[in-house]
Amino acid sequence: MNSWLLPCLLSTLASSALAQKTTNVAWDAFVREHGTEWAVEWSPATGTPTAIYGQGLSLPGRTANLADARRRSEQTLERYAALLGRGASKFVEITGEPAMRLYVFVYKQEFKGLQVIDGRADVRVHANGGISMFGAEAIPVPADFNVVPTLTLAKAHKAAGRHLSLANLHAPNEPKAADRLVVWSDVGQRVPVAPRLAWDIDVGVPSVNKVGRAYIDAHTGALLEYRNEILNCCKRLREAVLTPTTQPEAAESGEFYVKVIPDPSAPTNGATVDGTISAWSINDLDPYAGLTLMPMPHFKIGTTFTDASGKFSLPGNSVTVTLRFVGKHIGKVTASSGVTFSKTLTLSGSNNKIVIYTQAAPEYDRSQSTAFLYVTRCNLFMRNYMTSKSGLDKLNTFTADVNVGGSCNAFYQNNNARFYRKSGTCPNMAYSSIVQHEWGHGLDDSYGGLQYGECQEGMADACAIMQNDDPVVGLKFFSPTRNLRTALNTRTYPAGGGVHQQGETWMGWMWDCRVNFVATHGKAKAVTLMRTLFSNVFITSPGTQPTAVREVFILDDDDNILNNGTPNYNDLEQACLKRKLPYPKKKLCPHDASFSTYGTGCQTAPQACTVAYSQNLTQTLANTTTTANKVAIMEVNRPRVNICQVDLYTRARSGSVTVNVTIADYDTKGLPNKVLASGSVTVGSTAAVYSAKMTKPVVIDENNIHFIVFDNADKLVLPETSSGNKSFYYLFQNNKWSNIGYGRTFKYRVHGDLGTQIPALSNTGRPIVGGLPFSVDLSHAPQKRLAVLFVGGSKTNWNTLNLPLDLTPFGAPGCSLLAGGDAMLGTVTNAQGNGSRQFPIPLSMSLCTLKVYFQYLVIDQKANTLGLALSNAGEALLGSK
Ligand SMILES: [Zn+2]
Repeated sequence: MNSWLLPCLLSTLASSALAQKTTNVAWDAFVREHGTEWAVEWSPATGTPTAIYGQGLSLPGRTANLADARRRSEQTLERYAALLGRGASKFVEITGEPAMRLYVFVYKQEFKGLQVIDGRADVRVHANGGISMFGAEAIPVPADFNVVPTLTLAKAHKAAGRHLSLANLHAPNEPKAADRLVVWSDVGQRVPVAPRLAWDIDVGVPSVNKVGRAYIDAHTGALLEYRNEILNCCKRLREAVLTPTTQPEAAESGEFYVKVIPDPSAPTNGATVDGTISAWSINDLDPYAGLTLMPMPHFKIGTTFTDASGKFSLPGNSVTVTLRFVGKHIGKVTASSGVTFSKTLTLSGSNNKIVIYTQAAPEYDRSQSTAFLYVTRCNLFMRNYMTSKSGLDKLNTFTADVNVGGSCNAFYQNNNARFYRKSGTCPNMAYSSIVQHEWGHGLDDSYGGLQYGECQEGMADACAIMQNDDPVVGLKFFSPTRNLRTALNTRTYPAGGGVHQQGETWMGWMWDCRVNFVATHGKAKAVTLMRTLFSNVFITSPGTQPTAVREVFILDDDDNILNNGTPNYNDLEQACLKRKLPYPKKKLCPHDASFSTYGTGCQTAPQACTVAYSQNLTQTLANTTTTANKVAIMEVNRPRVNICQVDLYTRARSGSVTVNVTIADYDTKGLPNKVLASGSVTVGSTAAVYSAKMTKPVVIDENNIHFIVFDNADKLVLPETSSGNKSFYYLFQNNKWSNIGYGRTFKYRVHGDLGTQIPALSNTGRPIVGGLPFSVDLSHAPQKRLAVLFVGGSKTNWNTLNLPLDLTPFGAPGCSLLAGGDAMLGTVTNAQGNGSRQFPIPLSMSLCTLKVYFQYLVIDQKANTLGLALSNAGEALLGSK
């Protein structure tokens, strides 16, 4: 395999593309090193490339493990630090996790130990060792940036209170996070940012919709920005908080929290206490569905947890345990209204059936069991699909607060979700898809920290939709006849409106992808594919929907090259087109690849009669005989051959005998029929090779059925060995052919004479840029001869020679040189006179317009005084598909 020509032509073309001026010196250097086939997303805020992908960076060897991936990632950041605008800052890893075929690295930006708000770098290392994507939205912090605040923290607190009109920055009992000094910037404005030294101050007053962080200029005391840090499922916080609440639907039961049903038939073994825990819960997407007694998976009991089906076993004869809605995958469930479930029991023996609540459990109870069930399910579900588990381990302490005063909403903040009680026409919010949505915010938060916007809402909705494989989020949310949102919406990006409306394009896109996957792969595989891609995308912590779309394509990719598409590219692309979401474009030539032949070749010399194939031709005879006069050996699977001679290894039983050998075709019954060629040989009584030359050779095409027939068989020791390849055959006796036989191991040899031929050039495959190698083939050439393939960039000239060039004056009448010989590649023809050269074509769009010309020159001393026979020529137009 030779590939030096095409890259050689490529480099010439690529260097002309380099003449295009870019303003970024580092980018110029990158392009000089890696070519122009890249997609770059430049940040309007920082002027740095947030994502560089397309051709992929190749690095030696496959990625061995996470540590090796980290080394590749850090090397990439270091090597391209100037391009990424790192300056005097540092990139500090916040995510380093496997995701499908990738390792995802996300870094925050730090300057002199202070976090640079919104500064980030990303590297995606592919399992194949290469880099699929890298980039940074790095805030340009000057090396001499002053990190000494003029304002004290206490003064900054006062300034924050003044700007936000808050007497106290925290309501009583509101959790308080640490304040800190940071380098503030805001890339969300999409205009060039100037970094400012700022106090980052935690604010928590939900009653006036102020839960988040205030950035106070550490020199002037100005409010640089206030960022909301609470995410709701459904509508703006203020609306929700101000909605008047109504009374709960029913008084609390208080009495039947738990009943234990001992199994009298079960023997106690004295060593353990075991049984099951179940709770009456809403196991349905419908919040109005009746309660189901559900086994409580991974529910904490004493020193252990139940298993996936609610079973437990504890050591001892008798144990006293306190049951709460606490589990392996949920920190706790608390009730703001009603009574937080807690029950202490003393248990003994086997098969204790612990039942929490009753089928008539009122709202404030059933919301607790339902929240436990769905939070646990979310975590277990994601463990099935996500490659990384570290974020899911963090979510094992996720807490749910149910029956909160308010209506028609739920909130996520800091690994906790709050669900409003039933109010107005809305049901209690602690049900299926609303729990899944809020938990989805937690999943987002546990990988790379939470960002706030439409992408986060869309991804939280996706968390619910993918689990339920149902497009509705918030079934019967507003009333028994009105749902909250559906992926079967018609919104396109950007949808405008509030964050939830904007997020509808993401949930819609995911569902459209699912629909396309189903058409391609069938439902089972499609649902798995959707869940795998759209769960692992959480690990990449995307800030916008187009970024998240790009991450899905990168996750889907089987190599680190996006330019050549991904396994599910078409399905993803169709969904993007429908939703008007930008996506990584596959790079394609404007035309398809083609190959055509032109011109005519010139003749070889007649070729000698030489062995084409032989069958069992050993020098021993099995000494078998027959009473049949003729034997016809059937040939079914031979190369094309111009039969000029047949050799039999045999002897006469006595004296000598003339044997006629013929080549015959077959009739409609498959019997030997018309004689196509014939010859004869006198066979003596000594065993030897006896050759029958055909008086006129006959061409039998490849795989064409025919017979080798010899007569006077009854006077011969048959040309047969005791073992070897077996043949089908007929015997001619009593003036007719026998039924077909199989199994005799005849020994013979067939010669072919290729005669005078014109070498023929053809192609296998097409010259597809980045595609499978294609080959330029030679046939109808002399056997086992050197042939040289001329490869040129032109069919009209080769250096100073004009083409086609008539070779008559050079001693090759009728021969013309049809292609330039910028490269000359040798091949040796096989026993059938065939040869081939293969060409891989790198994936580079600059090759799209390339035309390459080919012609075989076959060394044949007897053909003419020049000693060459030439093939026709081929013209390859490189392209896509
Ligand atoms: Zn939300």
